[in-house]
Amino acid sequence: MFPLSSSTQIALRTLQNAGYEAYIVGGCVRDYLRGTLPQDIDITTNALPEETKAVFTDYRTIDTGIQHGTVTVLIDGQSFEITTYRVDVGYSDGRHPDAVQFTPSLREDAARRDFTVNAMAYHPDSGVVDFFAGQADLAARTIRCVGAPERRFSEDALRILRALRFASTLSFSIEAKTAEALNSQKNLLHQVSAERVTVELTKLLCGDGVAPILSCYLSVLTAYLPELSTVDAAFTGKLCHRVRKEPSLRYAALFSQLPLPRVESLLKRLRLDHKTKQTILSLLTLFHTPIRFDKPSLRRLIGQYSFELVIDALNLHADVCALTDDAQGVHDTLRVTALVREIVVNGECCSLPQLALRGADLSEFGLQGAEIGKMLHFILGEVLDGRMENNRETILSYIRSKRSAQ
Ligand code: ATP
Ligand code: MG
Repeated sequence: MFPLSSSTQIALRTLQNAGYEAYIVGGCVRDYLRGTLPQDIDITTNALPEETKAVFTDYRTIDTGIQHGTVTVLIDGQSFEITTYRVDVGYSDGRHPDAVQFTPSLREDAARRDFTVNAMAYHPDSGVVDFFAGQADLAARTIRCVGAPERRFSEDALRILRALRFASTLSFSIEAKTAEALNSQKNLLHQVSAERVTVELTKLLCGDGVAPILSCYLSVLTAYLPELSTVDAAFTGKLCHRVRKEPSLRYAALFSQLPLPRVESLLKRLRLDHKTKQTILSLLTLFHTPIRFDKPSLRRLIGQYSFELVIDALNLHADVCALTDDAQGVHDTLRVTALVREIVVNGECCSLPQLALRGADLSEFGLQGAEIGKMLHFILGEVLDGRMENNRETILSYIRSKRSAQ
């Protein structure tokens, strides 16, 4: 028995009491069988969308994709996508069905789904309904297409990336024929929108099983992102696995072997948010900056980029050195990391906001407008270089002496 929430039970019973079949389906069944709690619950039913709405009149319903058979129902704060059993017909654009047809058959609904582990349904009365041996593939940790892989990928090329994504996030392998088909049809990825590619790629990169997937299938991604063709797949897979599961860090690891202009051109085509793009570029700029052991330049880097980014870039550097058996590199990077931590622990000044003097302090000396900014930057430079203590009195007496000398 799956530990269904009371809202899920209400959703299933409400449809059942009105004379319809209803099952939870897809990813949530896969997750319950793996012993993890699913993020969202999809329900499949033989009720037509209008019938579903009529059954749930006591609840709020939203016409999410009514023409595709989907109604969202809100039950005690939990939302459910309830979709009529359907078959998808004709995929002339290689991405969207030309039409959907409702069907009275749960089996046909399962057959349109992408992978066997995603094609199972469940109801507390009937248990798991598994037409395509999804449970066996789950036990064997295998991603396998439902039906002929060639046809399934040519219907919808997004499935190529979904196969890689699930294999990475679940740490599964990809069944031989499915793997062969996604390799041979990788050029169809151009039919997929950049938004969808980016969503799947981000999930793939943040998976626990990213190392073997990038190692074996980077050439599939290269069909969409040719800039990656020079990248060492096995090395990059291991590197991604070593860095935290933050999208920006994993992308930085993926792009770490490429020159920055090529990364910029890649980022133009991926639909990442502005902040993530900036973080990736900052991390890689820092990563490619030759390591300096002097505190003044480290203070400037921290001031410009933030302590966290400098540490993340240094860690990335240490990981690259570790993977290339560069013991000296690891040693040097750790030394610099220790210096960076020391700067922060000591509260050493790295930027204007940390300076023990404000612009307002300078107005008493008769300084105005641009003069103030100029003086502040001059003093900041002195403090960063360690020539002046970051102490209000010290700085003020310096300015006094300078002004009286004028
Ligand atoms: P996640 O945990 O990421 O939400 P999921 O398996 O629930 O994984 P969804 O994208 O939410 O994935 O899709 C729900 C279900 O719809 C899938 O489990 C699968 O049965 C089906 N599905 C989704 N996208 C496709 C597709 N492109 N082709 C065929 N079936 C699909
Ligand atoms: Mg889902």
